Amino acid sequence: MPARSLGRVTEDGPIPAGPFADWLAGIEQALDGGTGSDVPCGPCTACCSSSQFVHIAPDETDALAHIPAALLFPAPMLPRGHVVLGYDEHGCCPMLADGACSIYEHRPRTCRTYDCRIFTAAGVEVDGAEQPGVARRVRRWRFDHPGPADQAAHDAVRSAARFALEHADELPPDARPANPVQRAVLAIRIHRAFSEPGGGPDPEAVRVELVRRWR
Ligand code: SF4
Ligand code: SF4
Repeated sequence: MPARSLGRVTEDGPIPAGPFADWLAGIEQALDGGTGSDVPCGPCTACCSSSQFVHIAPDETDALAHIPAALLFPAPMLPRGHVVLGYDEHGCCPMLADGACSIYEHRPRTCRTYDCRIFTAAGVEVDGAEQPGVARRVRRWRFDHPGPADQAAHDAVRSAARFALEHADELPPDARPANPVQRAVLAIRIHRAFSEPGGGPDPEAVRVELVRRWR
């Protein structure tokens, strides 16, 4: 979600997403909980205004201290202490003020790790009816492929996303993606199973990669 440093971004044109292999290394770290994502959002706040619930875990004491308790609700199907931050009648997060996050330095982990380039990377469509701003942004990102490793990694991620769509029923039940976000995340997690020339989709290799990267 929106990075504070605002780059110069035109209204409709393509936006550089960076070298693919570098981005992939960063998003894998973010998904593993090591870092936040540093997305060059520019003036975009689409994901803060697209009717999304923001999950906050009990250990996020800094974020919880900066959000009024009245805006937080128990997170469905999660243990006690997990909460969600909702949105207003316009679909906007209540912490969004004057076009920016009012608790930027204290924002929840969900916001720190959200990176809409993951959809572009995986070739996964965002529902334009539900999240038109995010869908527009996803269409504008352009990754660089300065070396063969960049292109090979990108091909592997896209193959993994296709596999996740076409072979979901061959995955363990708790790994089956239920929505575009989960499919894109799964593609990142299992893409190495698709990186051998001529390799994949191989359900057994995918299962091995799931165990290595997820559980
Ligand atoms: S939709 Fe993407 S570019 Fe826009 S604020 Fe969210 S993460 Fe940043
Ligand atoms: S907490 Fe901040 S970054 Fe997160 S959704 Fe709300 S406004 Fe956006």
